Amino acid sequence: MIELTLQKYFGFRTFRPKQRQIIEAVNSGANTLGVLPTGSGKSLCFQIPGLQARGVTLVISPLISLMKDQVENLKQTGVAAEFLNSTLKKKDEARIMREGLEGRYKFLYVAPERFNNETFREFVRKLDIPLVAFDEAHCISKWGHDFRPSYQDVIPTINALIPDAAFVALTATATEEVQENIQELLDIKDENVVLSSIKRDNLHLSVNKTYQRDQFILSYIQEREDASGIIYAATRAEVEKISAYLADHDINNVIYHGGLSKKERDSNQHAFLTGGVPVVIATNAFGMGINKPDIRFIIHHNLPGDLESYYQEIGRAGRDGKVSECILLSSQRDVNLHQFFIDRSNGSEQHKDHMRSKLDRMIQYNRTSKCLMSFMVKYFDADEYVTACGHCGNCLSGERTYNMKEEAAAVLELMRHTGTTLTKEHIIQVLRGERTENIVLNRLHESPHFGSMSSYLTGEIHHILDELILNGHIHHQEQQLHLVDKSCEVLEEKRDIYTVPFRKQFKEKVSISTAS
Ligand code: ADP
Repeated sequence: MIELTLQKYFGFRTFRPKQRQIIEAVNSGANTLGVLPTGSGKSLCFQIPGLQARGVTLVISPLISLMKDQVENLKQTGVAAEFLNSTLKKKDEARIMREGLEGRYKFLYVAPERFNNETFREFVRKLDIPLVAFDEAHCISKWGHDFRPSYQDVIPTINALIPDAAFVALTATATEEVQENIQELLDIKDENVVLSSIKRDNLHLSVNKTYQRDQFILSYIQEREDASGIIYAATRAEVEKISAYLADHDINNVIYHGGLSKKERDSNQHAFLTGGVPVVIATNAFGMGINKPDIRFIIHHNLPGDLESYYQEIGRAGRDGKVSECILLSSQRDVNLHQFFIDRSNGSEQHKDHMRSKLDRMIQYNRTSKCLMSFMVKYFDADEYVTACGHCGNCLSGERTYNMKEEAAAVLELMRHTGTTLTKEHIIQVLRGERTENIVLNRLHESPHFGSMSSYLTGEIHHILDELILNGHIHHQEQQLHLVDKSCEVLEEKRDIYTVPFRKQFKEKVSISTAS
C-alpha cells in the first residue's frame, strides 16, 4: 500500500493532488511524466516508487546543491541515499560504488555528466536499477528554458546500459512543446502524463511600469520590514548596483551571482536561507532548489526572456502557502538586450525564431490588461479552464470601466443559436459579417447574428472572447469554444462584465445591431 510507505517514511497521511496518480503510473512500470508546481511534492513521486521497488533508484539531478539537500532529507527520514558528484574524494566515490553493489542504499543521485566516466558506467551496468528519475526534467528539452545538452545526451547511454529501467520525469515548468519533447525522448505515452495546473493562488502577480525601479524596490522593502525576498536583476553589474543602493539606505542585503567565489556564494546563500539577511539581490544563477518556505516577495528588476524562466523564478515565493507578491519591473532596454542576444546566439534560425516568440509572450505578459495568473496558466496549457484570479495587479486595477455585457450577449447568443462548437475565428468572422469560404460552407452567413458586430475590429472581438474565456464564461478547448453553465447565467440575467476600455470610442456607446 502506497499510503503505508507515505506514512512510514515521510509521516504524511494523505497525498497531495496528483501524487498518487504519478506514483501508481510509475509503480505499474510505465514511463511517466509529472508536471506539478514548485512545492507540490514532486520528490515523493519517485521516492515512494523507489522505496517500494527492488534495487537502487538512480536520480538524475542538474545541481550539486539539489542533490545534497535531497540526500540529506532522505537520510533524516531514515532512508539510505547517496550522491556521486565532483565534490567527493576518490576514496568516497569508491566506497559509495561498493556500497551500492552491496545494496546498502535505495537512492543514488548523479549529474548527467557522471555518465562520461567509464568506471561509473561499469558500475551502473552491474547495479540493479529498476527506475531512473529525471528531476527538473525540463532541462532535457531543447525547447525548455534551462536546456542542458548533457541531460539529453545521457538518454541513449542509459538505454544501452540499463535497457529495462523505467523512467519518471518531473518538472514544474513545461509548455506543451517541452512536454511533448520530453515524452518523445523518454518514450512516455500520453496516458502516463500527469499534469496539474500551474496556478498558485497564494502568489499575487503584478506588473509595475515605473521608470524609477531602484526607488520602487527601496520603498517596497522599507514598507515591509524584515520580510524575506529576492530581487532578480539581469546582470552582475546591476545586482551590485542595486545592492549598494539598498545598503546606502540601510537595507541589509546579500548578493548572489556567478562572478562571486564559491565561498562567497555559499555564505550569502546561507545568510539568506537561515533568515540572517532578509533580502538577496541575484542574477538567475540563484535559486534552483532554494527551499525557503517564507519568501514573501520576488521582484524582477528586468524582464526575463521567457515565461518559463519567470514562472520558475517566482515559484520560489510562498512555499508555505501564505500570500506572497511577485512584481515584474522592466525597461525597453531589457527587450532590446534579449533581442540582441537572440540575434547573436549560435542557434539555428528555427531556434532563434522560437526564442523570439517566447520573448514576445513575455512582452505580452508585461503589457496585458488581463488577469496575469490566467495569462500564465494559458501559456503553459492553452486548454486549461481558467477564471480570473481576482487578486493580481490587473484584476485589482480599477481600470475595468467598460461594461461589455452587450458584446458578451452577442457572442453567447450566436454560440447558443448555432448549437455547435465554433472556433474563435469563426465567431469573429460571423459577427463581423465576413463571407469567407468556410463560413458559407457551414452556412453560418445565414445566422441572424451574421454581421451584428460589423463595426468592431477583429482584434476587439478577440479581446472580448479572451475576456469571456478568462472569466470562465466560455470554455476553450482544442481550438473550439464551448458554452458552459456560467454562459447561460450571463445570457439570462444580462450580467455586467467589466473590461478595460479597449477602444477610445467605447467611452461612448457602440452599436450592435440586434438580431431580427
Ligand atoms: P517540489 O519538488 O515539487 O518543489 P518537494 O518535493 O520539495 O516539492 O516538496 C515540498 C514540500 O512538501 C516538502 O517539504 C515535502 O516534505 C512536502 N510534502 C510532499 N508531499 C507531501 C504530502 N503528501 N503531504 C504533506 N507534505 C508533503
